[in-house]
Amino acid sequence: MPKPKIDSKKCTKCGTCIDVCPMNVFEKKGDKIIVANPDECIGCRACEVQCPSEAIKIED
Ligand code: SF4
Ligand code: SF4
Repeated sequence: MPKPKIDSKKCTKCGTCIDVCPMNVFEKKGDKIIVANPDECIGCRACEVQCPSEAIKIED
């Protein structure tokens, strides 16, 4: 099962991952971006590739 992880120290809260994830895995919560629905991840890596801060890693 692919598991998305956000490095909160690198994340600039740009929202790109929310926009590109086809499975709505990410959500904004307060002033943070969180992995709200990790079990929905299909491992497409769109978020990992498009995050401008390289803050997302998909762990297999
Ligand atoms: S795309 Fe990267 S920097 Fe932007 S909100 Fe998502 S994890 Fe944070
Ligand atoms: S790998 Fe794809 S499905 Fe999984 S969180 Fe990233 S964009 Fe969403």
